[in-house]
Amino acid sequence: MTDDMPPPRLCGRCYDDMVKLFPANCEERPENVHGAIGMYHCPDCGAMVLAGLPHPDLCARCLAREHPQFDLGHNGSWQPFGQE
Ligand SMILES: [Zn+2]
Ligand SMILES: [Zn+2]
Repeated sequence: MTDDMPPPRLCGRCYDDMVKLFPANCEERPENVHGAIGMYHCPDCGAMVLAGLPHPDLCARCLAREHPQFDLGHNGSWQPFGQE
């Protein structure tokens, strides 16, 4: 685990860049979470969020929950929806 936060232009969930980002449509409000939780996965979308900070923006695919797994973005291999 790294404590580097992705730059704001990256999708907070899949870390795609060069995509249009939107405010996350999640019920989770990590900015309202305080204490020693630190980083955790958003229960709504699976994005890595940081307690005490607002939910990062998401790309359209993540808003639509069309990413098959939240962790596929780390190696840059985007799998089209529906493929395993
Ligand atoms: Zn995304
Ligand atoms: Zn979320």
